[in-house]
Amino acid sequence: TSGLMKGKRGLIMGVANNRSIAWGIAKACADAGAELALTYQGDALRKRVEPLAADLGAIIAGHCDVTDLDSVDAVFAALEEKWGKLDFVVHAIAFSDKDELTGRYVETTRENFNRTMEISVYSLTAVAKRAEPLMTDGGSILTLTYYGAEKVMPHYNVMGVAKAALEASVRYLAVDLGGSNIRVNAISAGPIKTLAASGIGDFRYILKWNEYNSPLKRTVTIEEVGDSALYLVSDLARGVTGEVLHVDSGYHTVGMKAVDAPDI
Ligand code: NAD
Repeated sequence: TSGLMKGKRGLIMGVANNRSIAWGIAKACADAGAELALTYQGDALRKRVEPLAADLGAIIAGHCDVTDLDSVDAVFAALEEKWGKLDFVVHAIAFSDKDELTGRYVETTRENFNRTMEISVYSLTAVAKRAEPLMTDGGSILTLTYYGAEKVMPHYNVMGVAKAALEASVRYLAVDLGGSNIRVNAISAGPIKTLAASGIGDFRYILKWNEYNSPLKRTVTIEEVGDSALYLVSDLARGVTGEVLHVDSGYHTVGMKAVDAPDI
Protein backbone atom coordinates (compact mmCIF):
# COMPACT_ATOMS: atom_id res chain seq x y z
CA THR A 1 0.00 0.00 0.00
CA SER A 2 3.01 2.30 0.26
CA GLY A 3 2.34 5.44 -1.77
CA LEU A 4 -1.42 4.76 -2.08
CA MET A 5 -2.23 7.87 -0.02
CA LYS A 6 0.66 10.04 -1.17
CA GLY A 7 -0.48 13.68 -1.40
CA LYS A 8 -3.67 13.00 0.61
CA ARG A 9 -4.44 14.88 3.80
CA GLY A 10 -6.79 13.45 6.39
CA LEU A 11 -8.31 14.32 9.74
CA ILE A 12 -8.60 11.46 12.25
CA MET A 13 -11.06 12.05 15.11
CA GLY A 14 -11.35 9.59 18.00
CA VAL A 15 -7.87 8.51 19.01
CA ALA A 16 -7.90 8.03 22.79
CA ASN A 17 -4.91 5.69 23.10
CA ASN A 18 -2.99 3.04 21.17
CA ARG A 19 -5.89 0.58 21.44
CA SER A 20 -8.34 2.94 19.68
CA ILE A 21 -9.77 1.85 16.32
CA ALA A 22 -8.95 5.38 15.10
CA TRP A 23 -5.30 4.66 15.92
CA GLY A 24 -5.32 1.49 13.79
CA ILE A 25 -6.77 3.54 10.94
CA ALA A 26 -4.28 6.39 11.44
CA LYS A 27 -1.35 3.98 11.28
CA ALA A 28 -2.61 2.32 8.10
CA CYS A 29 -3.14 5.70 6.41
CA ALA A 30 0.24 7.05 7.53
CA ASP A 31 2.01 3.87 6.33
CA ALA A 32 0.36 4.42 2.94
CA GLY A 33 1.81 7.94 2.76
CA ALA A 34 -1.07 10.13 4.01
CA GLU A 35 -0.44 13.34 5.90
CA LEU A 36 -2.58 13.33 9.04
CA ALA A 37 -4.10 15.62 11.64
CA LEU A 38 -5.43 14.22 14.93
CA THR A 39 -7.84 15.70 17.46
CA TYR A 40 -8.05 14.85 21.16
CA GLN A 41 -10.95 15.18 23.58
CA GLY A 42 -9.84 17.22 26.59
CA ASP A 43 -6.52 17.61 28.39
CA ALA A 44 -6.53 14.12 29.89
CA LEU A 45 -6.33 12.57 26.41
CA ARG A 46 -4.02 15.25 25.03
CA LYS A 47 -1.09 13.69 26.89
CA ARG A 48 -1.80 10.34 25.22
CA VAL A 49 -2.55 11.64 21.74
CA GLU A 50 0.41 14.02 21.36
CA PRO A 51 3.12 11.30 21.41
CA LEU A 52 1.01 9.09 19.12
CA ALA A 53 0.68 11.94 16.62
CA ALA A 54 4.44 12.51 16.82
CA ASP A 55 5.02 8.80 16.00
CA LEU A 56 3.21 9.30 12.69
CA GLY A 57 4.54 12.77 11.95
CA ALA A 58 0.91 13.93 12.26
CA ILE A 59 -0.15 17.40 13.32
CA ILE A 60 -2.55 18.05 16.20
CA ALA A 61 -5.66 19.87 15.01
CA GLY A 62 -6.65 20.68 18.58
CA HIS A 63 -9.11 19.75 21.29
CA CYS A 64 -12.47 18.62 20.00
CA ASP A 65 -15.53 17.80 22.07
CA VAL A 66 -18.40 17.34 19.64
CA THR A 67 -20.92 18.59 22.21
CA ASP A 68 -19.17 21.96 21.89
CA LEU A 69 -19.58 22.97 18.25
CA ASP A 70 -17.18 25.89 18.72
CA SER A 71 -14.43 23.32 19.26
CA VAL A 72 -15.46 21.52 16.03
CA ASP A 73 -15.38 24.85 14.17
CA ALA A 74 -11.94 25.59 15.60
CA VAL A 75 -10.55 22.28 14.30
CA PHE A 76 -11.75 22.92 10.75
CA ALA A 77 -10.57 26.55 10.89
CA ALA A 78 -7.11 25.30 11.94
CA LEU A 79 -7.05 22.80 9.04
CA GLU A 80 -8.17 25.42 6.55
CA GLU A 81 -5.39 27.69 7.70
CA LYS A 82 -2.73 24.95 7.76
CA TRP A 83 -3.70 22.86 4.71
CA GLY A 84 -6.34 24.83 2.79
CA LYS A 85 -7.97 21.57 1.70
CA LEU A 86 -8.85 18.15 3.04
CA ASP A 87 -9.13 14.73 1.34
CA PHE A 88 -10.59 12.50 4.05
CA VAL A 89 -12.04 12.45 7.54
CA VAL A 90 -12.32 9.50 9.91
CA HIS A 91 -15.03 9.86 12.58
CA ALA A 92 -14.50 7.25 15.32
CA ILE A 93 -16.53 8.86 18.11
CA ALA A 94 -19.29 7.47 20.28
CA PHE A 95 -20.48 7.81 23.85
CA SER A 96 -23.23 6.61 26.14
CA ASP A 97 -23.57 6.43 29.92
CA LYS A 98 -22.20 3.01 30.86
CA ASP A 99 -24.96 2.53 33.40
CA GLU A 100 -27.29 2.21 30.41
CA LEU A 101 -25.05 -0.19 28.46
CA THR A 102 -26.27 -3.01 30.62
CA GLY A 103 -29.71 -4.31 31.50
CA ARG A 104 -32.81 -3.33 29.51
CA TYR A 105 -33.05 -0.78 26.68
CA VAL A 106 -36.50 0.20 27.88
CA GLU A 107 -34.90 1.80 30.96
CA THR A 108 -32.99 4.40 28.85
CA THR A 109 -33.40 7.92 30.18
CA ARG A 110 -34.30 10.81 27.91
CA GLU A 111 -31.16 12.64 28.98
CA ASN A 112 -28.81 9.80 28.06
CA PHE A 113 -30.78 9.01 24.88
CA ASN A 114 -30.28 12.59 23.68
CA ARG A 115 -26.65 12.73 24.73
CA THR A 116 -25.87 9.40 23.04
CA MET A 117 -27.50 10.57 19.82
CA GLU A 118 -25.78 13.95 19.92
CA ILE A 119 -22.28 12.55 20.43
CA SER A 120 -22.58 9.34 18.40
CA VAL A 121 -24.84 10.43 15.51
CA TYR A 122 -25.29 14.18 15.10
CA SER A 123 -21.53 14.70 15.33
CA LEU A 124 -21.00 12.91 12.00
CA THR A 125 -23.36 15.35 10.30
CA ALA A 126 -21.71 18.32 12.01
CA VAL A 127 -18.30 17.09 10.85
CA ALA A 128 -19.49 16.38 7.28
CA LYS A 129 -20.96 19.87 7.01
CA ARG A 130 -17.64 21.45 7.97
CA ALA A 131 -15.53 19.06 5.87
CA GLU A 132 -17.49 19.62 2.63
CA PRO A 133 -16.16 23.11 1.80
CA LEU A 134 -12.56 21.93 2.38
CA MET A 135 -12.92 18.85 0.14
CA THR A 136 -12.40 20.82 -3.04
CA ASP A 137 -11.06 17.81 -5.00
CA GLY A 138 -13.73 15.45 -3.70
CA GLY A 139 -13.19 13.40 -0.58
CA SER A 140 -14.04 10.49 1.66
CA ILE A 141 -15.72 10.49 5.06
CA LEU A 142 -15.67 7.33 7.15
CA THR A 143 -17.43 6.47 10.41
CA LEU A 144 -17.51 3.41 12.67
CA THR A 145 -20.60 1.39 13.44
CA TYR A 146 -21.52 -1.97 14.98
CA TYR A 147 -23.81 -4.90 14.24
CA GLY A 148 -26.00 -3.84 17.19
CA ALA A 149 -27.52 -1.35 14.69
CA GLU A 150 -29.01 -4.26 12.72
CA LYS A 151 -29.80 -6.89 15.35
CA VAL A 152 -30.34 -6.73 19.08
CA MET A 153 -27.08 -7.41 20.92
CA PRO A 154 -26.99 -7.88 24.68
CA HIS A 155 -26.38 -4.63 26.62
CA TYR A 156 -25.83 -2.51 23.48
CA ASN A 157 -29.21 -0.86 24.07
CA VAL A 158 -29.37 2.86 23.24
CA MET A 159 -26.05 2.60 21.39
CA GLY A 160 -27.67 0.14 18.97
CA VAL A 161 -30.43 2.65 18.30
CA ALA A 162 -27.78 5.35 17.80
CA LYS A 163 -25.77 3.18 15.39
CA ALA A 164 -28.93 2.51 13.34
CA ALA A 165 -29.40 6.27 13.05
CA LEU A 166 -25.70 6.68 12.23
CA GLU A 167 -25.96 4.16 9.37
CA ALA A 168 -29.03 5.98 8.03
CA SER A 169 -27.06 9.25 8.28
CA VAL A 170 -24.30 7.70 6.16
CA ARG A 171 -26.85 7.10 3.38
CA TYR A 172 -28.40 10.58 3.58
CA LEU A 173 -24.99 12.26 3.70
CA ALA A 174 -23.81 10.12 0.75
CA VAL A 175 -26.60 11.61 -1.35
CA ASP A 176 -26.13 15.17 -0.09
CA LEU A 177 -22.37 15.19 -0.70
CA GLY A 178 -22.22 12.88 -3.73
CA GLY A 179 -22.56 15.84 -6.11
CA SER A 180 -19.31 17.23 -4.69
CA ASN A 181 -17.64 13.84 -5.27
CA ILE A 182 -17.46 13.28 -1.52
CA ARG A 183 -18.09 9.68 -0.46
CA VAL A 184 -19.54 8.72 2.92
CA ASN A 185 -19.18 5.18 4.25
CA ALA A 186 -19.09 3.21 7.48
CA ILE A 187 -17.17 0.21 8.73
CA SER A 188 -19.15 -2.12 10.95
CA ALA A 189 -16.33 -3.47 13.09
CA GLY A 190 -16.48 -6.66 15.11
CA PRO A 191 -15.96 -6.30 18.86
CA ILE A 192 -12.49 -5.09 19.91
CA LYS A 193 -11.29 -4.41 23.45
CA THR A 194 -10.98 -0.61 23.60
CA LEU A 195 -11.69 2.08 26.19
CA ALA A 196 -15.20 2.66 24.82
CA ALA A 197 -15.95 -1.07 24.65
CA SER A 198 -15.00 -1.53 28.30
CA GLY A 199 -18.22 0.34 29.19
CA ILE A 200 -20.38 -2.38 27.61
CA GLY A 201 -21.73 -5.06 29.97
CA ASP A 202 -20.33 -8.63 29.60
CA PHE A 203 -17.95 -7.47 26.85
CA ARG A 204 -15.61 -10.44 27.37
CA TYR A 205 -18.51 -12.78 26.71
CA ILE A 206 -19.33 -10.91 23.48
CA LEU A 207 -15.67 -11.21 22.36
CA LYS A 208 -15.65 -14.96 23.04
CA TRP A 209 -19.00 -15.46 21.33
CA ASN A 210 -17.70 -13.76 18.19
CA GLU A 211 -14.47 -15.74 18.32
CA TYR A 212 -16.30 -19.07 18.50
CA ASN A 213 -19.09 -18.30 16.04
CA SER A 214 -17.67 -16.08 13.29
CA PRO A 215 -16.63 -17.75 10.01
CA LEU A 216 -12.98 -16.84 10.61
CA LYS A 217 -13.19 -18.20 14.20
CA ARG A 218 -11.48 -15.16 15.70
CA THR A 219 -12.09 -11.51 16.49
CA VAL A 220 -10.66 -8.68 14.40
CA THR A 221 -7.79 -6.31 15.26
CA ILE A 222 -7.47 -2.55 14.91
CA GLU A 223 -4.86 -3.24 12.20
CA GLU A 224 -7.45 -5.18 10.18
CA VAL A 225 -10.03 -2.43 10.56
CA GLY A 226 -7.27 0.04 9.65
CA ASP A 227 -6.50 -1.74 6.38
CA SER A 228 -10.17 -1.86 5.35
CA ALA A 229 -10.52 1.80 6.29
CA LEU A 230 -7.52 2.57 4.10
CA TYR A 231 -9.39 1.07 1.16
CA LEU A 232 -12.49 3.18 1.83
CA VAL A 233 -10.64 6.48 2.23
CA SER A 234 -8.38 5.82 -0.77
CA ASP A 235 -9.13 6.16 -4.47
CA LEU A 236 -9.45 2.36 -4.66
CA ALA A 237 -12.99 2.86 -3.32
CA ARG A 238 -13.76 5.83 -5.60
CA GLY A 239 -16.96 4.12 -6.78
CA VAL A 240 -18.17 3.26 -3.26
CA THR A 241 -20.48 5.46 -1.18
CA GLY A 242 -23.37 5.05 1.26
CA GLU A 243 -21.92 1.63 2.14
CA VAL A 244 -21.61 -0.19 5.45
CA LEU A 245 -18.65 -2.57 5.16
CA HIS A 246 -18.52 -5.33 7.77
CA VAL A 247 -15.02 -5.98 9.12
CA ASP A 248 -16.06 -8.58 11.67
CA SER A 249 -14.51 -11.93 10.69
CA GLY A 250 -17.79 -12.49 8.80
CA TYR A 251 -19.89 -12.68 11.99
CA HIS A 252 -22.86 -10.81 10.44
CA THR A 253 -23.36 -13.64 7.94
CA VAL A 254 -24.12 -16.41 10.45
CA GLY A 255 -27.64 -17.25 11.54
CA MET A 256 -26.99 -19.31 14.68
CA LYS A 257 -24.37 -20.60 17.09
CA ALA A 258 -21.80 -22.88 15.49
CA VAL A 259 -22.51 -26.54 16.32
CA ASP A 260 -18.90 -27.05 17.41
CA ALA A 261 -18.64 -23.81 19.45
CA PRO A 262 -17.46 -24.47 23.00
CA ASP A 263 -19.52 -23.22 25.93
CA ILE A 264 -18.41 -19.86 27.25
P1 NAD B 1 -12.11 4.49 21.99
O1 NAD B 1 -12.53 4.69 23.40
O2 NAD B 1 -10.67 4.25 21.75
O3 NAD B 1 -12.58 5.72 21.07
C1 NAD B 1 -13.76 6.43 21.31
C2 NAD B 1 -13.44 7.89 21.05
O4 NAD B 1 -14.61 8.68 21.12
C3 NAD B 1 -12.43 8.45 22.07
O5 NAD B 1 -11.30 8.93 21.40
C4 NAD B 1 -13.20 9.58 22.71
O6 NAD B 1 -12.37 10.70 23.03
C5 NAD B 1 -14.20 9.94 21.62
N1 NAD B 1 -15.32 10.71 22.14
C6 NAD B 1 -16.28 10.31 23.03
N2 NAD B 1 -17.10 11.35 23.31
C7 NAD B 1 -16.64 12.42 22.59
C8 NAD B 1 -17.03 13.77 22.46
N3 NAD B 1 -18.06 14.29 23.18
N4 NAD B 1 -16.33 14.57 21.61
C9 NAD B 1 -15.28 14.10 20.92
N5 NAD B 1 -14.84 12.82 21.01
C10 NAD B 1 -15.51 12.00 21.84
O7 NAD B 1 -13.01 3.27 21.46
P2 NAD B 1 -13.21 2.64 19.99
O8 NAD B 1 -13.80 1.30 20.27
O9 NAD B 1 -11.98 2.77 19.21
O10 NAD B 1 -14.38 3.55 19.39
C11 NAD B 1 -14.29 4.20 18.12
C12 NAD B 1 -15.58 3.99 17.33
O11 NAD B 1 -15.67 2.61 16.95
C13 NAD B 1 -16.87 4.30 18.10
O12 NAD B 1 -17.79 4.90 17.21
C14 NAD B 1 -17.36 2.90 18.47
O13 NAD B 1 -18.76 2.87 18.69
C15 NAD B 1 -16.97 2.16 17.21
N6 NAD B 1 -16.97 0.70 17.33
C16 NAD B 1 -16.26 0.06 18.30
C17 NAD B 1 -16.28 -1.33 18.38
C18 NAD B 1 -15.52 -2.04 19.47
O14 NAD B 1 -15.82 -3.21 19.73
N7 NAD B 1 -14.55 -1.44 20.08
C19 NAD B 1 -17.00 -2.08 17.43
C20 NAD B 1 -17.70 -1.42 16.43
C21 NAD B 1 -17.69 -0.03 16.38
